[in-house]
Amino acid sequence: MALTKEQWTEQLAVLTDRQEQLLARPNSKKENFYNGIYDHYENPVLTAAHAPLIWRYDLCYDDNPNLQERLGVNAVMNSGAIYFDGKYCLIARVEGSNRKSFFALAESDKPTEGFRFRNYPFLLPDICPEETDVYDMRITQHEDGWIYGVFCSESKDASSSDPTAAILAAGIIRTKDLVNWERLPNLVSRATQQRNCCLHPEFVDGKYAFYTRPQDSFLQTDNSGSICFALCEDITRPVLCTEERVVSPRIYHTVTEIKNGEGAVPIKTPMGWIHIAHGVMNTAAGLRHVIYVFATDLNDPAKLIASPGSLFIVPYGKERVGGNSNICFTNGCIVKDENVYIYYSSSDTGVHVASTTIEKLMDYTFNTPEDPQRSVDCVLQRYKLIKKNIENGASSNNGVL
Ligand code: BGC
Repeated sequence: MALTKEQWTEQLAVLTDRQEQLLARPNSKKENFYNGIYDHYENPVLTAAHAPLIWRYDLCYDDNPNLQERLGVNAVMNSGAIYFDGKYCLIARVEGSNRKSFFALAESDKPTEGFRFRNYPFLLPDICPEETDVYDMRITQHEDGWIYGVFCSESKDASSSDPTAAILAAGIIRTKDLVNWERLPNLVSRATQQRNCCLHPEFVDGKYAFYTRPQDSFLQTDNSGSICFALCEDITRPVLCTEERVVSPRIYHTVTEIKNGEGAVPIKTPMGWIHIAHGVMNTAAGLRHVIYVFATDLNDPAKLIASPGSLFIVPYGKERVGGNSNICFTNGCIVKDENVYIYYSSSDTGVHVASTTIEKLMDYTFNTPEDPQRSVDCVLQRYKLIKKNIENGASSNNGVL
């Protein structure tokens, strides 16, 4: 028996109230977490439950008397970010229950809470007939006056009968108002697969500059798969015109061993461009994505100048569980008044925020020791730290030498 009109109305009121409570929920810093580098927050800033009811339910009693969710949302994650017109704006990847993703803009007056989606998600101009999925947009406020979104455009590989074979390219859109978007052709590069591409915010040698991640095959990893950098003359006919030069390489037995990818648009600081990226390593549970940091030269954004040898963000507490558990990914952060808000996704499920400052981020980036690459050298590195602390009078927990 379908719901009576009265029951239906009551149920809708429950759903509406529940969502309103979620959207209005305050978010505070986690009290028991400290690393001196950034703060974690109690709640995610976006989840599938933030998706408006009008995206999911047919709210006509006659057509949906059981009030069933008709078009479910599985996850909200991997969000580009920009501060625009007094609002913190996240352009999130919304993954429908049918595995296809789309983009939607959520905005708030505050950086860590209160995000609400606009009524309509993005309807991208349909310029690629084979394009099956789109995801993970990086938002670049470019010095040419446009705001660009660079995302992964994934198409079925029509030349293969293998249902998992896909071709990955970088799709590009641009806007001046975050309302009207123009789609440009996909980026052309020599690599057969491109994912995690990101437009640098400034011209380099008078040209547009992209961070890329060329690969020769989909899902398979090979010698490619490092974060690279290349230039492009004309963004309206985007073709990489220089070789893709490695910026942050894959390195054996590190967080970038399997592959890595540019994350948020690099942050310009007095000491260099700071990149908050992801690296991927192999584990018994499968590929594990974590967030790491590196810096490049202010005058040559492809020249690596600092590589703190550690993980930067990994899922914390409950964030460890989700659709793809125990992974972390970022493709957006916002710098506002020297504060840095890093929007990261945990376990391909929800978007969280970590906050820090430019000063702390520079301290982390340029003072965290590099990874000496071998266990014995890591112990020597730690010995040096312990010895210094003991010589400076620090007391140890156990007092035993
Ligand atoms: C994809 C991301 C995804 C991550 C973790 C990457 O290869 O590009 O969209 O969040 O894997 O599953």
